[in-house]
Amino acid sequence: MAQQHVYTFGGQSADGDRTMKNTLGGKGANLAEMAKQGFPVPAGFTITTDVCVHYSKNDRQYPEGVKEQVEAALGKIEETMGAKFGSDENPLLLSCRSGARESMPGMMDTVLNIGLNEKTVAALIKQSGDERFAWDSYRRFVQMYGDVVLGVERDEQNEDPFETILDKAREDAGVEYDYELTVDQLKDIVSKFKAVVKEQKGRDFPEDPMEQLWGAIGAVFDSWDNDRAVVYRRQYGIPHEWGTATNVQAMVFGNLGDDCATGVGLTRNGADGTPGFNGDYLINAQGEDVVAGIRTPKRIEETLEKDMPEAYRELNDIGKRLEAHYKDIQDIEFTVQKGKVWMLQTRNAKRTGFAAVRIAHDLVEEGVIDSKEALNPRRIPADDLNQLLQPIFNTADKKKAQDAGQLLTTGINAGPGAASGKVVLTAEAAEAQANKDPDVSLVLVRKETSPEDLRGMRVAKGILTAQGGASSHAALVSRQMGKACIVGAQELQINYAQKTVSVGGTTLKEGDDISIDGFTGEVFAGLIPTSPSEVMQVLDGEMKAEDSETYQRYSKIMSWADEHRKLNVRANAESDDAAEAVAFGAEGIGLCRTEHMFFGHLDEIREMILAETAEARQKAVDQLLPFQKEDFTKLFTTLAGKPVTIRLLDPPLHEFLSDRHLEEEPGLDEKLAKIAGVTKEDVHRRVSELHELNPMLGHRGCRLGVVYPEVTRMQATAIFEAAVATKQAGHEVFPEVMIPLVGFKTEFENQAAVVREAAKAVFEKAGVEIPYTVGTMIEIPRAALRADEIAEGAEFFSFGTNDLTQTTLGISRDDYGSFMPQYREMDIVPADPFQTIDQPGVGRLMKIGIEGGRSTRKDLKIGICGEHGGDPKSVMFCHDAGLNYVSCSPRRIPIARLAAAQAAIAAG
Ligand code: PEP
Ligand code: MG
Repeated sequence: MAQQHVYTFGGQSADGDRTMKNTLGGKGANLAEMAKQGFPVPAGFTITTDVCVHYSKNDRQYPEGVKEQVEAALGKIEETMGAKFGSDENPLLLSCRSGARESMPGMMDTVLNIGLNEKTVAALIKQSGDERFAWDSYRRFVQMYGDVVLGVERDEQNEDPFETILDKAREDAGVEYDYELTVDQLKDIVSKFKAVVKEQKGRDFPEDPMEQLWGAIGAVFDSWDNDRAVVYRRQYGIPHEWGTATNVQAMVFGNLGDDCATGVGLTRNGADGTPGFNGDYLINAQGEDVVAGIRTPKRIEETLEKDMPEAYRELNDIGKRLEAHYKDIQDIEFTVQKGKVWMLQTRNAKRTGFAAVRIAHDLVEEGVIDSKEALNPRRIPADDLNQLLQPIFNTADKKKAQDAGQLLTTGINAGPGAASGKVVLTAEAAEAQANKDPDVSLVLVRKETSPEDLRGMRVAKGILTAQGGASSHAALVSRQMGKACIVGAQELQINYAQKTVSVGGTTLKEGDDISIDGFTGEVFAGLIPTSPSEVMQVLDGEMKAEDSETYQRYSKIMSWADEHRKLNVRANAESDDAAEAVAFGAEGIGLCRTEHMFFGHLDEIREMILAETAEARQKAVDQLLPFQKEDFTKLFTTLAGKPVTIRLLDPPLHEFLSDRHLEEEPGLDEKLAKIAGVTKEDVHRRVSELHELNPMLGHRGCRLGVVYPEVTRMQATAIFEAAVATKQAGHEVFPEVMIPLVGFKTEFENQAAVVREAAKAVFEKAGVEIPYTVGTMIEIPRAALRADEIAEGAEFFSFGTNDLTQTTLGISRDDYGSFMPQYREMDIVPADPFQTIDQPGVGRLMKIGIEGGRSTRKDLKIGICGEHGGDPKSVMFCHDAGLNYVSCSPRRIPIARLAAAQAAIAAG
C-alpha cells in the first residue's frame, strides 16, 4: 500500500490520535483525539507534515498518492456530514488550516468557506434560508482566498484593495459594521473583489471547488516558510525542517443567526492560573472576527451563561472533560451553530510563569498529576520562574507610556525585571545620591561598566548600557545582583561631560526619569511605577509566607524540584548577595570573584598596581589583607559550613587603573602619586605600561599571581585567617581555593604551592587545621585538553564557560554584540553561545576535560560557574555530562534547581 499521507477524523472515529503530533501537527492530532473520544468535531482530514517537507523540497510537488488520498478522505467527510463538496443542492463547505508540531499562533495561513461559487452560493441560500449569511460567507471567502492563496497585493498607498472596497461600501451605506451591509451591497462587493483579482492577476477568480481546495492546501504549506513563521521559529527554537500539517475540515457556522456563536476559551486563566472557564466569544459571527478585533468580543465568564445557557453548560462540561483527559489547562476553539456546540481545536494552553506555577501546583492538589509530572518543562519552563521574582511594570501603565510615545529605544534584555528612576551617569554620583537618600530610585546609564562601577550598580535599581553583550560585565553583574539590565542599546548617545543621554530627538539629563524593562529590552522616558514580587518580599522577610499564596506555591514547586534533582546548585556571589543566595536555596558558593571585593579599596589596589618593586607591592598588598579577611569571614559565616569557592584575582589590572580613569577623574594622578610616593609622570608612565591591546588574552588570571606571588599569598593568607576566625567563632567552614585561567599544569602547581604554603603558615600560627582544597577553573581550551595532568594537582574543576566560550570560539565576550544579532537572524548559530552552551564545540571540550580529569582523579568534583550555569538548556547538558554542581547568579538559583530536576527526570 502507498504511504499514508492523509488521516481522517469525525463521526466518533479517527485514523490518528494525540500521540501523532510529529506527523499530524498539534491541531490534527488533537482533532483526531477529540473525535475518537466522542467530542463533537466536524469531520475532516489532516495532510501530514511529511507532505509539507516533501512539497517544499520538491518545487511544490506533492508525493505520490496524495491526490487520491485527499479525494477519498473528502468522500468520507461528505458521507459523515451528509453534504457534497461543490453540490448545487446541498453544498459542503470546507476550511483549510495549518497546524505544526508546536503551536505557532497566527504565524501561518487559514482559508475558510472553500467551495463557494456562483452556483453553490445559491444552494447555500436555499439550504440555510438566509440569503445574507450566504453572501456574507462568499464575500469572506473571496477576500481570504484572494489574500492568502492568490496573493492580492497592496496598492501604491500601501492600502489593501479589499479593505478599501469594504470601507467605501460601509461609507456609502452609512453603516459602521460589515454585518450591517445588505445582500445587494454584499453582492456588489463580491463582484468588485473579483474585479481586483482579474486586474492584478490577469485571471478569473476560481469557480471550481477542487481548484479552490488545492489552492488553499498549497497556500497553507507555503505559509510554513513565510517571514513571520521563520522569525517565530528562530525565536522559539523550532526546527525549520519540521514542516506543518494541513487540516481540511467541514465548515460549521457561527454566523447563521442569534442562536449561533464562535469563540476561544481557556479552562483556567492563562495569566495567573485561576481556575474557571474563561475567554472571548461573539454571537452571530465567524471565527476570524474574534481574533481580528473588528467587533469587541464578549467575555465567556461574564455573559455566555445568560446568552446561551445550554451551550455554556455543554462547553463548560467539555472543557472539564478535556482537561481531565489531557491533564492540563486547555485552550479551545468552538462554534455554536443553531444551538449545537462544535469543537474546532483543543491544545495545551500557553501561560505565564505565574500561571504555570499555579496550574502545576493545583493539578497536583487536585490529584490529576503527580509532582514529577508537574515539573515537566512543558508545564513550567524553568526560565519562566524568573517572572515570580522580578519587580514588574503594571501592564496598563506600560501601555500608557507606549501610547504616549515614551519608548526611546531597545537593547539586549540582559537582566530581567523592571526598573524606573532617575538617570545617573557615574558610580560616584549614584553613591552620593544614595547616601543622601537611601530610598532614591536610580538607573545607572553608562557606555559600558567596569568593576569600578559596582558601587553605582549596587545602589541603582537598574542598569542600562550602550555597549556590550549578554555576558558583558554589566550583564553578568546585574543578573548576579538581580537588577533589571539592558545592554547594547546602541542608539543611546551618552555625553558624560554634558551629563546627557540622547536618542533621536529626545535628550534626558542626569536626574530625569527613565524606565527600563529588562524582560523586553525596552527603554522608556519617564517613570513607570514598579512593585516587588511577593516571592521576593517573603524571601526578604518583609512578608509572611502564610500571607502569600504565590510564595507557598513557588516553595512547593521548589521542594518537589529538590526531591528529584541530582545536581547541586551553588551561587556566584561574594558579599550581601550571598545571604540572598542562601535564601534562594544555594548549597554553597561556586564562584566568589575576589576582584569584586576590591571596589571599596581602590586606593590600595591602585597603590599595588603602581608598585615597581616586590617590597613596595608587598606593602600595598599588606594593607588589603585585613579588608579581604573581613569580607571572607563574613562570607564563610553566612554560608555556615557550606562549601565556598574563592577565586584568586583574575581581571587585567588596567580595569582598576587605566588612562580612562585618569581622564574621567581629574586630579587622580596627583592623588595616586602622593599615595604611592612617586611622581605624576611615574603614574602616567606606569599606566601606559599596563596598557594592553588585547587585555582579555593578556596579563590576567593566574598569570598575575605567577608574576606577582605576593598578591596570591596575601589572598590565600586572608582566606585561611578568615577560615580560622570563623571556626574559632564556632561556625563550620569549608574553603575551596580556585586558580583562574590555568592552561599549563605548571601554572597550577606554581600557584597551588603559594596557596598551600600560606595555609600551612596560618594554621601553624593559629594551632588550628582546617580542611580545604585547591582547584582550578577550566576556561581555556588547553586546560580541557590537558585536564588529565592538571588533575594530578587540582582537587576540583570548575568550568568557566564565559572564557571557555570566548577562547574556543575566538569571539570576544565583550564585542560580539555587533554581529551576533545578524548571526542569529541568518541561523549561523542556533543560540547566543554566551547564554546557552555551544554543545558541539565548547560542550565537546568540556566532555574531554571531564573525562581527562576523572581519568586521573576518579571522584574529581566538577562544576560550572560561567553564566551558562543558570541557563536551563545548559543545566540539562551539565547533568548529562556528569557534573556535580552548577553555580549561577543568586536569582537564577530557583531556575537552576528546577532545570536540574527536569534534567534528572528526563534522564529517567
Ligand atoms: C568564566 O570565565 O566563565 C568565569 C566564570 O569567569 P569570569 O566571567 O569572571 O571571567
Ligand atoms: Mg573567566
